[in-house]
Amino acid sequence: MSHNKNAGFFEEKNKIEKGTLYLVATPIGNLADLTERAAKVLSEVDFIAAEDTRNSLRLLTHLGISKPMVSYFEHNKRERGEEIAARIAAGEACALITDAGTPAISDPGEDIVALCAERGIPVCSVPGPCAAIVALTVSGLPTGRFCFEGFLSTNKAERRKHLSLLKGETRTMIFHEAPHKLKTTLGDLTETFGTERPIALCRELTKKNEEILRMTLGEAIAHYEATEPRGEYVLVVGGATESAKAADWESISVREHVERYEAEGMSRMDAIKAVARDRGVAKNVIYKEVL
Ligand code: SAM
Repeated sequence: MSHNKNAGFFEEKNKIEKGTLYLVATPIGNLADLTERAAKVLSEVDFIAAEDTRNSLRLLTHLGISKPMVSYFEHNKRERGEEIAARIAAGEACALITDAGTPAISDPGEDIVALCAERGIPVCSVPGPCAAIVALTVSGLPTGRFCFEGFLSTNKAERRKHLSLLKGETRTMIFHEAPHKLKTTLGDLTETFGTERPIALCRELTKKNEEILRMTLGEAIAHYEATEPRGEYVLVVGGATESAKAADWESISVREHVERYEAEGMSRMDAIKAVARDRGVAKNVIYKEVL
């Protein structure tokens, strides 16, 4: 009985709804990772919005799907996002696919989802591979609490600021990285977290040359002095231990200390109170310093 009920639910859920944006996850390397539901949605929507239409054409050809496509990427996301949302609001069903993985993670997908949410346009996820989550799960590092940090900026000052806010982070941290920036990033991570911090360097996930290196930051630097980085990387870095975090505020300014708590989601006032407690001073002393 319950089995039949479930079957009905799945059929209902798998019907393409008009006037809906579908976020369709695509493989991050291994084409066999495309789900049955993803293929169905791609073949049944009215049109597909793709980050790189040439790249996505290869995937659609592999699946034997021919569908009108529009490009939607970082540099046309404003106007194109408006056009796509207007077509969906007028009743079309659209599938959004990005170069690889789950749309809206480190790609312009988040903007069109926000636009649809603002306009009351339904957004439906067709889940599948996501490089950050794949990397986290194979990293061997704690998965109970983690934070996704995306790409570090190419601007040195911004990169430093970003990392300084993570100095006392106790959760496992996930970063995306391109091979040509890997060595610089490992240098910056070491400067922030020290040579002994554990890292998993996850390269070419789900592809033929998949490699997962679990080591310390110091060992990673030594490894890449002898080996040229190749392919796509996700870096998973272990968080600070609670005791290291407690001792660490001595090396940062009061302002950085407050900003760190704010980056963890605290309000300014709560951050000031927490810093006052850590440093054993009255909160108005901290308040005056960050004014
Ligand atoms: N939305 C995508 C997702 O859900 O995985 C991420 C898009 S982001 C623009 C692309 C970055 O993801 C790459 O630069 C790399 O850091 C990481 N990445 C994607 N595929 C990967 C793979 N097969 N192995 C390792 N990293 C990968």
